[in-house]
Amino acid sequence: MDAAEWWAMDLSSDLLAPRRKTRQIHVGDVAIGGGAPVSVQSMTTTKTADVDGTLAQIYALAAAGADIVRCTCNEEAAAEGLARIVPRSPVPIVADIHFHHEMALAALEAGVHGLRLNPGNLRKASEIKLVASEAKDRGVPIRIGVNAGSLHPDLYKKYDGVTPEALVESARMELAYFDEVGFSDVKISVKASSVALMIAAYRLASETFDHPLHLGVTEAGPPPAGLVKGTAGIATLLAEGIGDTIRYSLTADPVEEARAGRQLLESLGLRERKGLDLIACPSCGRAQVDVIAVAKEAQAALEERNLPIQVAVMGCVVNGPGEARSADLGIAAGKQKGHLFIRGEIVRVVPEAEMVAALVTEAERLVAEGVEARLAAADAGAKDEAEADRRALLDEKGRDPNASEARVDRIRRRVSGADTDAGSTGTQSE
Ligand code: SF4
Repeated sequence: MDAAEWWAMDLSSDLLAPRRKTRQIHVGDVAIGGGAPVSVQSMTTTKTADVDGTLAQIYALAAAGADIVRCTCNEEAAAEGLARIVPRSPVPIVADIHFHHEMALAALEAGVHGLRLNPGNLRKASEIKLVASEAKDRGVPIRIGVNAGSLHPDLYKKYDGVTPEALVESARMELAYFDEVGFSDVKISVKASSVALMIAAYRLASETFDHPLHLGVTEAGPPPAGLVKGTAGIATLLAEGIGDTIRYSLTADPVEEARAGRQLLESLGLRERKGLDLIACPSCGRAQVDVIAVAKEAQAALEERNLPIQVAVMGCVVNGPGEARSADLGIAAGKQKGHLFIRGEIVRVVPEAEMVAALVTEAERLVAEGVEARLAAADAGAKDEAEADRRALLDEKGRDPNASEARVDRIRRRVSGADTDAGSTGTQSE
């Protein structure tokens, strides 16, 4: 077998057990289950109310391989943060909900792409059904996130402890509530910190449900032990054909979780290896350029050169350099110009028509000369010019081109109980 054949084999998962058939759901534009590529998830560690800090972490996670990012929605300020984060996130956002169903409703109002509910601490049938009903109206999927550490006390009693059967029954009970309101846009997780328990629970879940499964070993701890535990559980199941989306839970920078998830899938041949790592903003009301077209053009030009760097293509200079400051190199549009930045620092401003060419030239120099040298070679005045463009755009487009503030207003009225009609699906199409 020659080298090319070995490589091809590495990209193939044919030697693993065939993947179990599950139904397909969509979290934003990411398909889960039904034969879709296994996706990688991670979770931010910032306060969700800190919009800029959270967005910078989301971009870093996306660059490291996360397809979907979860943010906690534990208070009204977090829901308001989500209203501002969602339109600017490069990947779909899932709101993590514990205890308070009203936070789930507020997160839906904020426009999230998915919810995670914990059946162990959100137990009132009427509240669960209300959330499922509104998620259904808005076309937003829910993960039933069962966790061994917060199993419903009745199930703990019934099964005399935390068992695979107890974890699966918890998910089944939640599904029954969802069924009552005709909601089935669901994925399921049955996580435990014990690898053996988690493996057994997911095997049983896979026999019991045809919903996509989200795999994870919860509270795995810091690396390297946390990585070993996560890999032991997740890889075992993936090799058996079980699992549609994965998350490592590490006591570490979440970028390590995303990177580990991606590497695991690549090593099993379940995802293609990446050379160039190109990330692009999703575009929003602030965009100054056709981000998709520029990203495609940049990708083609950079892939030809096979440069091992992270490059960001961002729709505006107002937020682009900050959101993508974890990328080695990026370009942000504004006022018919391209603003080139290295690790978030503006180094050059070029006419819009030359954006991609300038990006490619800078990428080659960056790889050849290193970050310090290229930062030292920044054009004098580039930073000031970019700042002037940023301010001009803010004046021109106003501070709320994504209509986030309107969502924030609805969240406030909803949480305060002043707006009983806030569940209207009309909000979703805005
Ligand atoms: S257009 Fe600007 S604010 Fe909007 S997502 Fe892109 S970089 Fe972020």
